[in-house]
Amino acid sequence: MSNLSYANENTNAWQTYLAQIDRVAPYLGDLTPYLDTLKRPKRALIVDVPIVMDDGSIQHFEGYRVQHNLSRGPGKGGIRYHPSVDLNEVMALSAWMTIKTAVLNLPFGGAKGGVRVDPRKLSTRELERLTRRFTTEISPIIGPQKDIPAPDVGTNPNIMGWMMDTYSTGQGHTVTGVVTGKPVHLGGSLGRVRATGRGVFVTGVEAAKKIGLSLEGSKVVVQGFGNVGSEAAYLFNQAGAKVVAVQDHTGTIFAANGLDVKALQKYVAEHQGVAGFSDAEAIDNEAMWDLDMDIFVPAALEGQITVARAERLTAKMVLEGANGPTYPEADDALIARGVTIVPDVICNAGGVTVSYFEWVQDMASYFWSEDEINERLDKLMINAVADVWNTATEKGCSLRTAAYILACERILKARKERGIFPG
Ligand code: NAD
Repeated sequence: MSNLSYANENTNAWQTYLAQIDRVAPYLGDLTPYLDTLKRPKRALIVDVPIVMDDGSIQHFEGYRVQHNLSRGPGKGGIRYHPSVDLNEVMALSAWMTIKTAVLNLPFGGAKGGVRVDPRKLSTRELERLTRRFTTEISPIIGPQKDIPAPDVGTNPNIMGWMMDTYSTGQGHTVTGVVTGKPVHLGGSLGRVRATGRGVFVTGVEAAKKIGLSLEGSKVVVQGFGNVGSEAAYLFNQAGAKVVAVQDHTGTIFAANGLDVKALQKYVAEHQGVAGFSDAEAIDNEAMWDLDMDIFVPAALEGQITVARAERLTAKMVLEGANGPTYPEADDALIARGVTIVPDVICNAGGVTVSYFEWVQDMASYFWSEDEINERLDKLMINAVADVWNTATEKGCSLRTAAYILACERILKARKERGIFPG
């Protein structure tokens, strides 16, 4: 990765999570002794994924499935295909899922999976073989009542369809509820593909109201223009905001009067990146951090906002579409400057919320309309922002710590009530 590396090599995603969880300890009262349960994953599986390449050679890839905590229900969390996937990252991502499902009060625990691979370098047939072998290797620990994967960076509904089919083949019957984010005609849910971006927008609107920021004419900068970033950019644009810059793995584009987001989506679908989009100026990737903006939406990978970058950001609000984009010290630097940060565990929870709806619909074999889904999604997200905001005000802490307080109370209460086996 070019510009997506940790600035401080001694810090990693799991350490970021541990620092976040430590900040909750003073608020947990008699649940504090149970906090250690969240400082380690419940279960971590590392698998070898050998596949026959199109040229007849054999290549081995390393895959992971981590179940961080299952106190409140089956594991839930995406599968990432990316060259920098490792156990540390998957552990952190699984832990953030534990917190996220609990903040939204969904009846799930937290899990995550991934394969260290650059999916862009595989043919469609190789990608299918990789997915089917990976699914087989992790199948002992996944299932609709055990752990339910979903898409993340580098994976998509097609891949979820292959996962569902592979798992079902092993069971001898179709098991739609084993993964979410599937194509709609395979038991997927309407609204799922756009749900995370929609959630970023909905939580952003709520936070903007709280801080008195009008969306009309406000300047938005989005890092990452995939599933999450492109939909968030589209909805902000529709609401009257100007998306002045977008960065992805191919570069950064800028237009002072705002980009035509719909046209950019079409361009990216054809060219696999924003570079070369007409009606915009190409700027240096690092220059993005100095642009004049009201709202910044990190929607690429973790470890993006370092202290140095936090000090340069002019945004009034940061909406964490990506998981773990902000280092704890950078969080402090932004808060000290009065910047509102809507943390990942609530901001990007729209996807897991509609994944929950998909799982419920699969169980019932009864499917809802897109309007019903969006209405229920918006309601859950708006209520969650209100709960987190009220907790932050009451405790005098950041929105992130408030979200962690609400989540940890729910998880650790479940832990305490279930007791420690064998006692
Ligand atoms: P995606 O694969 O659809 O898009 C990722 C985007 O990041 C692409 O535009 C890519 O070009 C960009 N990117 C990659 N490398 C980059 C680089 N070096 N510099 C700048 N941009 C770069 O992934 P996604 O599903 O949109 O996920 C993005 C983030 O949102 C991740 O952190 C993911 O964990 C999180 N997230 C996704 C979902 C979901 O439902 N898809 C849900 C919750 C959180």
